[in-house]
Amino acid sequence: IWQKILEIIAQKVGESTFELWFSPIKLIDIKNSEIFIEVPNRFFKDWIEDNFPSIISDAFYQITGNQISVRYIITGKEQEVLVEEKRQVVKRGNLNPRYTFSTFVVGPSNQFAHAAALRVAENPGFAYNPLFIYGGVGLGKTHLITAIGNYILDKNPDMNVCYMSSEQFTGEFVSAIRHEKMPEFRQKYRTLDVFLVDDIQFIAGKDSTQEEFFHTFNELYFNQKQIVISSDRPPMEISDITDRLRSRFGMGLIADIQPPEIETRLAILYKKAEIEGIKLPEDVAYFIASRVKSNVRELEGSLIKLCAYISITKVPITMDVAKHVLRDLLPDENKPITIDLIQQHVCEALGIRVQDIKSKKRTKEIANARKIAMYITKKLTNLSLAEIGNAFGGKDHATVIYACKQIEKERQKDEALAKLIDSIVRKLQENK
Ligand code: ADP
Ligand code: MG
Repeated sequence: IWQKILEIIAQKVGESTFELWFSPIKLIDIKNSEIFIEVPNRFFKDWIEDNFPSIISDAFYQITGNQISVRYIITGKEQEVLVEEKRQVVKRGNLNPRYTFSTFVVGPSNQFAHAAALRVAENPGFAYNPLFIYGGVGLGKTHLITAIGNYILDKNPDMNVCYMSSEQFTGEFVSAIRHEKMPEFRQKYRTLDVFLVDDIQFIAGKDSTQEEFFHTFNELYFNQKQIVISSDRPPMEISDITDRLRSRFGMGLIADIQPPEIETRLAILYKKAEIEGIKLPEDVAYFIASRVKSNVRELEGSLIKLCAYISITKVPITMDVAKHVLRDLLPDENKPITIDLIQQHVCEALGIRVQDIKSKKRTKEIANARKIAMYITKKLTNLSLAEIGNAFGGKDHATVIYACKQIEKERQKDEALAKLIDSIVRKLQENK
């Protein structure tokens, strides 16, 4: 049966993930609707649970039609069966206990959001309400709002704290309507002390969920209950939500999280290594931090991958090992330079947002960045003028030609511009 389970998993996760994460797992025993499996270390348990929460029990169900719970045993510590901490699961709802303030690394890119979150945690309902945190994927929004919940529950275990994504809220709302459970639904949400709503952008376009959320919001707000909301963009840019909801989101404090600077990325790596009890050589840390730039989840993923490899092979962490295990991070000779990549680099260099360069906005900075990006795209890719225009807010080919000519001319007169373009081109060619 274990063989069959593995086959199903292999199909789901793909070969390389399977090789690295699932093939080292050993079956120990199956009894009393529990399956005991042995993993090389704690990373495995954490990683599998975070990334494929119920993959093993699902596969078991698929084969036998029976439910099973998974128990992890860590090699070498066979006595220590890691049973889920039931008490905590009940008390903590769905707050991830690993996301706390003490595991959050603060740097210039996130210090404002962090400080605001901490104040809210210390003073729920009375500091900023609502607190609205926004930022790109994998930059720590979920971590930070979960930390607020964990902090509050540490101090006041009796508080009624609820964390959920706006998609879960929508799901429960829909099912409450279907099963005629609206009174219970309202009772549950309107009596919270702290409501942490993750990824609110997914409520866009769902009118009746928005309506319900609006009333929940008001009820909590007027009773001075804390509301914390996260989103991948500021309230102004969430389209397809009602204006009254959008204006509610801005009534307290809005804080953004930016991609971390290299120093913060290094600090995060060292912190995670410390948590895992691993000594990370400086050159390896730098190698990872300088290649994974815009997403902390990927930064962490690279480190975990490295740790897993080391724990299986028992080799010391060196640059060679890191380069081998993390070869995905190395420049790939055959990988073409894409328009997305050019847009990212140009925007990063000029401090504007990628979505703006792709839009029709005409402010001076954006229009200028767009021209530079078009020019570089023309030089470095084989895309047609129409394709280029399309990727920049639907310009026609004449506009692209004009932009390229103009930049070519300016570049010859303006040394700073020439340098800027050269440095962007160099970066693109180096790390694709
Ligand atoms: P988001 O919700 O913004 O997409 P997450 O909160 O899920 O991002 O963060 C992704 C991963 O990166 C998580 O494992 C989180 O612990 C980690 N992370 C993000 N920012 C930090 C930070 N400043 N310090 C430590 N870990 C961080
Ligand atoms: Mg998140």
